[in-house]
Amino acid sequence: MKKSTIWILTSLMTLAFAGLLWMQGYYVKNMVAMRNEQFSDAAKQSLYMVSERLVKRETRYFYDQTIGQVASLQTDVNFSFSSPQTISGQPLGMYDAGDTYQQAREEMRDKYLQQQGIIDEVIISIISQAADRPPMERADSATLSQMLKQELDTMGLKNMPFEFALTNVQGDIISSTAGFSATADDKDNMFVQTLFPQDPRAKQLFLKVYFPTKHEFVMSSLNYVYPTAAFILLLLVVFFVTIALVFRQKKLTEMKNDFINNMTHEFKTPISSISLAAQMLNDQSVCKSSTMLKQISTVINDETKRLRFQVEKVLQMSMFDKSKATLKLEEVDANVVLFNVVNTFKLKVEKYGGQLSAQLDAMDAIVTVDQMHFTNVIFNLLDNAVKYRKDDVPLNLEVASHDLDNDRLEITIKDNGIGIRKDDLKRIFEKFYRVSTGNLHDVKGFGLGLAYVRKIIQDLDGTINVESEYGIGTKFIIILPLSKN
Ligand code: ADP
Repeated sequence: MKKSTIWILTSLMTLAFAGLLWMQGYYVKNMVAMRNEQFSDAAKQSLYMVSERLVKRETRYFYDQTIGQVASLQTDVNFSFSSPQTISGQPLGMYDAGDTYQQAREEMRDKYLQQQGIIDEVIISIISQAADRPPMERADSATLSQMLKQELDTMGLKNMPFEFALTNVQGDIISSTAGFSATADDKDNMFVQTLFPQDPRAKQLFLKVYFPTKHEFVMSSLNYVYPTAAFILLLLVVFFVTIALVFRQKKLTEMKNDFINNMTHEFKTPISSISLAAQMLNDQSVCKSSTMLKQISTVINDETKRLRFQVEKVLQMSMFDKSKATLKLEEVDANVVLFNVVNTFKLKVEKYGGQLSAQLDAMDAIVTVDQMHFTNVIFNLLDNAVKYRKDDVPLNLEVASHDLDNDRLEITIKDNGIGIRKDDLKRIFEKFYRVSTGNLHDVKGFGLGLAYVRKIIQDLDGTINVESEYGIGTKFIIILPLSKN
């Protein structure tokens, strides 16, 4: 897959996710606003109904009082219109039809006027006396609480907890429930209703109601949003992990391609040298002196060795596929192995004008290793030191060994080569990883050497670390457990 295709897919997916999240956010915001509005409408309507019921209650109070007064007056003065059997004190049967109709009409009018009188009386009482009644008589806490509860239940806010206060026009609290906080500053959560709106402005009473659990009530409608958000988050994580894997895979493919290119290059040179030598041997026109034959056989020998070395390196690759390499373990004196490798390598280092020194201080250097792989490990590290030497400074390579805490052996390989940058340092042990400036001295590596080294050392229950300063040099530190006996 092309890099641009991956980027386009990533961008489209990101856009889709952003859109989805935006829509979800927008929906949630609208939902909260709607629930808030519904709650406010229901609360306001309940408060209004309470106020209406209080007005009616007060009207009944004055009506009952006026009726009471009228009744007491009736017992003092005998009202003529109050007797249903008589009109103006006469028995009904004593009138003729025309008179009866006339009398009945008058009686009705009197009754109407009497009721009208009572209602006028009530209205006058309400206007003149109601506002002067003690507020606690007009709207006592128990009645307010009961009415509020009933009205809230009717409006769908069943069992909604509330706190309330009765205040005057100055805002002073006349009575309140225990939980009502006068300082409650939550404007969205405080509902105010004027009680007895017919009262003179200065004497008006207000009912303030506060709902402590309003927020939870509004949010409870969003319960389904949480699992949805969790699923979106999960999708997002899966998406980013997939993208990271795709990029990793792509990088690995690129590295493998590099590896194949480098490998072809490494094989091509010895093959063409050998083929050239073979052509010379075949060519009848070339006279073959013994020196020439020796030269040609040296070339063939050297190039075959080189080829074998390359094949060996590629074969090392197969080690990675096994979780634990099949090692032929034996007890080996690491000092002896190091000494032999150093001796073999000395010539190579000196060929480039450098020097290789060994300081094998370890008193006990018996380790249980696979000799062939262990030698390969040291060889790879020394080979790298030569490959990544500085052009202008003679290579100074030091191999050392010494004991650590009596049961571990430390081997260090230190060079004064080109060094490794911090960013690369973290990755040089990865399979196929090569520093971009690694193609120095026309070095075409595979990026496998250090991965192989680490794999073998780990399989031997050891550790390998690297310290490096760019432009100064590099030091590899191997720690292996000593054999117990
Ligand atoms: P290769 O040498 O085939 O590229 P390695 O796995 O052996 O692969 O090394 C990985 C990278 O680590 C190399 O490309 C090189 O840049 C860096 N490196 C390894 N050893 C040294 C060293 N002694 N000095 C500087 N750089 C090194």
